[in-house]
Amino acid sequence: MSNCIFCKIVREEAPAAIVYRDEQVTAFRDIHPAAPTHILIVPNRHIDSVNALTAEDESLAGHLLTVAGQLAAREGIAETGYRVITNTGPHGGQTVSHLHVHLIGGQPMRHPMG
Ligand code: 5GP
Ligand code: ZN
Repeated sequence: MSNCIFCKIVREEAPAAIVYRDEQVTAFRDIHPAAPTHILIVPNRHIDSVNALTAEDESLAGHLLTVAGQLAAREGIAETGYRVITNTGPHGGQTVSHLHVHLIGGQPMRHPMG
């Protein structure tokens, strides 16, 4: 999906503040941060959403979470805490159709679930 904005960021065809990258995932700062730390962690390969994950993606799906924890430590918010969120589909509030994990922290979360 060459038109996908997150695919373009992964390929460095679109600008982003990339904070981490490896062979499986890329992490960059959200353009509209909801908190002092707001990082998006995305698979380098285009996957629409959690709906499209298969058993073959289990290692990748786990890696997204592991990287979230590592970046939380690097950002200095591991002890104070943070949220890891993956919105899926219209009711989930997903606005970019490339699977991504939000890592949000640096202040107390104001909004309850839902
Ligand atoms: P969603 O609503 O799909 O869960 O989250 C999409 C997130 O991507 C939003 O928080 C939005 O601010 C962020 N976003 C959308 N377009 C861009 C972009 O071009 N660059 C960056 N860095 N973030 C983006
Ligand atoms: Zn994509």
